[in-house]
Amino acid sequence: MRYLILILGLSSLLFSCSGNEGETEYTVIKGATVYDGTGDAPIENSEIIIRNDKIDCIGSAGDCSIPMGSEVIDASGKFITPGMIDAHMHFFQTGFFDSRPDAMDLNETYPFPQVAAYQEKNPQRYYDTYLCSGVTGVYDVGGMSWSVGLQEEAEQNPKAPHVAAAGPLLTPVPGAPFDLPSDRVLVQLDSEETGVEMVQYMSALGSTGIKFWMLRADSEEYMNRVETAAREIEKHGNQMIAHATTLEQAKAAIRNGAKLLVHSVEDQEVDEEFIELAKEEGTIYNPTLIVGAGYMVAYRGAADIAPIPIDDPNGCVDQKTRELITTSSQFQDHPRITDGFKERLRDFDPETDMTSDLMLQNLKTLYEAGIPIVVGTDAGNPGTLHGISIFDEMEMMQKVGITPEDLIVMATKNGAMAMRRLDDFGTLERGKFGNLIMMDENPSEDISNMRSLTHVMIKGEMMEVGE
Ligand SMILES: [Zn+2]
Repeated sequence: MRYLILILGLSSLLFSCSGNEGETEYTVIKGATVYDGTGDAPIENSEIIIRNDKIDCIGSAGDCSIPMGSEVIDASGKFITPGMIDAHMHFFQTGFFDSRPDAMDLNETYPFPQVAAYQEKNPQRYYDTYLCSGVTGVYDVGGMSWSVGLQEEAEQNPKAPHVAAAGPLLTPVPGAPFDLPSDRVLVQLDSEETGVEMVQYMSALGSTGIKFWMLRADSEEYMNRVETAAREIEKHGNQMIAHATTLEQAKAAIRNGAKLLVHSVEDQEVDEEFIELAKEEGTIYNPTLIVGAGYMVAYRGAADIAPIPIDDPNGCVDQKTRELITTSSQFQDHPRITDGFKERLRDFDPETDMTSDLMLQNLKTLYEAGIPIVVGTDAGNPGTLHGISIFDEMEMMQKVGITPEDLIVMATKNGAMAMRRLDDFGTLERGKFGNLIMMDENPSEDISNMRSLTHVMIKGEMMEVGE
């Protein structure tokens, strides 16, 4: 099993007091071409000085004074960007149907309560996968309330990306098979009181955002409950997130102050009114292009039509996930896989059917209108694996004509903005965390070149990716 390997030796004195008072350690990365996440022109022949876990100086050669005793990394010929942010993922989900019994019930083989408990107790395997994929910040935009606890745990953990988490979702539906008697993902917004109490509880726990999963835009009664909850969110200085996939729902969400839309508008083309509303509210748009097709890919695996691909040259995906995915065809006789469904699965073409033209069109329109956009995969859903999926998502986004330079900003700065952590990371600037990735190929030529990453620095510690 290949994992991240510390290239700065653990035996080094420089690391013996990391994070403690006393000795200060400096790392200098010299010679790379840097895209700092702000969208500014690249810094050629750069110098980055990391003091403990933070950036102390960044500039062209000669701009920074290099402290005595610094560990110097020669990065000539390499390219550097901030660590990426996946602004839409779910820690309670595994990447297969064992965590989505609503889509395909695998309780007989994988009892969901046990799956959920395992997910709660074992976030490190995903931390490793994300870091190995160049992702140094993740936003869990919906899960059980324990997901909020991961924020602090990950913050204190030197081998974890930064985590933001929203916790349970407010929804018009009465719950789902992935709710446990003791811990729910979906909370039915059945009264104004329910909304207020949820917002008070989650905000007191420290949740980053309160998410609304679908809205009844056509029901005045329901929208009154949303409005009351939205006012409570504002009172607590929290932010509203919405899963709103129709134009009508998305507008209703923004009118109530939604700061982040975690899915595309999928039912019709976005219009001028939507753009105006989003601009007024400063709403961030997360297109989440490929997760829907991921379900089809996963069903095809389960139906033994085609194995679920794991595009993972650096060996980032953990063993348990790998086993889960590679044994998916054991479910080929599952009642969910009817003959008719099998036909549809056979017709699905992973080359051409990975997203919809309408979603692509809307992304293009909003990009050209200057709406802030983030990269979010919805990882954890069946067929969308944690960590490595970010490359597929960015490549799909690039297809609508987003320049790679702009995509770098979306995958870094804008993601940190969505997480409400832009003061701490997301761009490479003095005082921010030393979170960056190094690549062999130039990501501004083609976003696929992000796949050529060789090193990841998280909180000032450099790791080599792969072997
Ligand atoms: Zn999601």
